[in-house]
Amino acid sequence: MSEVRRKIIPTKHPMPHQDAKERCHNFNEVALGYDEDTAVAEAQRCIQCKNSPCMEGCPVEINIPAFIKKITERDFAGAISIIKEKNNLPAICGRVCPQENQCEKKCTVGKKHEPVAIGRLERFVADWEMAHGSRSVKKAKPNGKKVAIVGSGPSGLTAAADLALMGYKVTVFEALHMPGGVLVYGIPEFRLPKSIVAREIASIVELGVEIKTNYVVGKLGRVDELLQEGYDAVYIGTGAGLPSFMNIPGENLNGVYSANEFLTRNNLMKAYRFPEYLTPIRVGKRVAVIGGGNVAMDAARTALRLGAESYIVYRRSFEEMPARREEIEHAREEGVHFEILTSPVEIKGNEEGRVTSMVCQRYELGEPDESGRRSPIPIKGSEYEMQVDTVIMAIGQGPNPLIQQTTPNLKTNKRGNIVVDDTTGQTSIPGVFAGGDIVTGAATVILAMGAGKRAARAIHEYIQSKG
Ligand SMILES: Cc1cc2nc3c(=O)[nH]c(=O)nc-3n(C[C@H](O)[C@H](O)[C@H](O)COP(=O)(O)OP(=O)(O)OC[C@H]3O[C@@H](n4cnc5c(N)ncnc54)[C@H](O)[C@@H]3O)c2cc1C
Ligand code: SF4
Repeated sequence: MSEVRRKIIPTKHPMPHQDAKERCHNFNEVALGYDEDTAVAEAQRCIQCKNSPCMEGCPVEINIPAFIKKITERDFAGAISIIKEKNNLPAICGRVCPQENQCEKKCTVGKKHEPVAIGRLERFVADWEMAHGSRSVKKAKPNGKKVAIVGSGPSGLTAAADLALMGYKVTVFEALHMPGGVLVYGIPEFRLPKSIVAREIASIVELGVEIKTNYVVGKLGRVDELLQEGYDAVYIGTGAGLPSFMNIPGENLNGVYSANEFLTRNNLMKAYRFPEYLTPIRVGKRVAVIGGGNVAMDAARTALRLGAESYIVYRRSFEEMPARREEIEHAREEGVHFEILTSPVEIKGNEEGRVTSMVCQRYELGEPDESGRRSPIPIKGSEYEMQVDTVIMAIGQGPNPLIQQTTPNLKTNKRGNIVVDDTTGQTSIPGVFAGGDIVTGAATVILAMGAGKRAARAIHEYIQSKG
């Protein structure tokens, strides 16, 4: 009880950041992380509630009060081992997980004050472990069964790690030349350094997981062939990598990118380090990014760092923007401009087929639509022209259809997402499971991980039940 009566510091300890004026010229990480004393002080804000509602908000079931208590005792190694019982990607989750809508949303302290900074504390202990090189690998005894995982994003990696820890021989097949999915090709270096992703993936490989890159399932081998080759089960975690476009005139001009291509060329192929890396990207003077989600913020902030004036063009208002508040704030601090209640109706180009401008229309907000957000209504006669060299479409992604087309009897919905049992991830084909964005549509890292975790349990039960 004395713990509960302790006077609580009302606000989270602030996260140190690289200065906005400097960081808009470099790709180094923006948030710098807590030091030991700040982490301990923040951990002391946790009142260790018995029912720990924060855990209800964690899709991977981390024992949050227990790891925070270890931090208050300065037992950082103890804290990370508690996290790693459930989460093999803690440095990643501590950086990009939408904690404000998950664990921190349920935190008791948050009812009166700011919630405990659970995400920042998770990041702190994960970084502490990397800095102190104290990773402990508990390899499981092989059980003689093998599982194939298709896709090495957070969902596939989590399923792989959990199955390896149960003794399965796990092979991950990845289409790209590097594992990590959106963590490497989508989320920019300044939010999630690729060295961090590489280290967390290395710790999964140390569990005995094999990752085969440059292997497109559906082209080199099909899902049914993996089962015929002797894999006891297959988990499909192929994500939502197919970009959507607006279908407006001029979208085929040079200088129009999908956010997917733009970010992949920057993150995975390091366009921003041209000529050291041989993939230049031309942005010109003014870049318009269409959309208001995390992907749009990432593209706009990347364009800014490449030296352009960068504009977010979004058809609703700030309140409806789906991006994390923190990311919108960061973009504003860095100098990204916002054209809200606005949407393009046409992209114009010159004789060489290059983008020169964009015709936009103003919008007002009506009643909420099926997404719960107020629907945008175009204002007649409000068209105006915006001079731009580059247009980046960040209006959503769907599933790549390859696996669905090459896997007979795999049930999908009208959007092309794989249909599964919610609790097990079981698809319409016995022994084939799926989870992450390929099932839900574009969502979050932690939800994809949660699906991988549930499927790993179900795969274990399925294989054991077959004897
Ligand atoms: C730019 C961007 C920023 C984001 N920011 C955030 C954020 O801040 N916080 C957050 O929580 N979420 C964020 N998200 C969403 C999050 O990254 C995804 O929800 C998550 O990565 C989904 O994980 P996944 O494992 O299902 O798929 P993915 O991460 O998409 O991984 C799928 C993998 O499967 C591979 N693959 C596809 N088809 C095949 C095939 N046929 N054979 C072999 N391999 C294949 C792909 O190459 C890819 O590597 C962001 C997404 C984007 C695009
Ligand atoms: S709900 Fe908040 S205060 Fe309670 S145990 Fe979880 S983190 Fe600590």
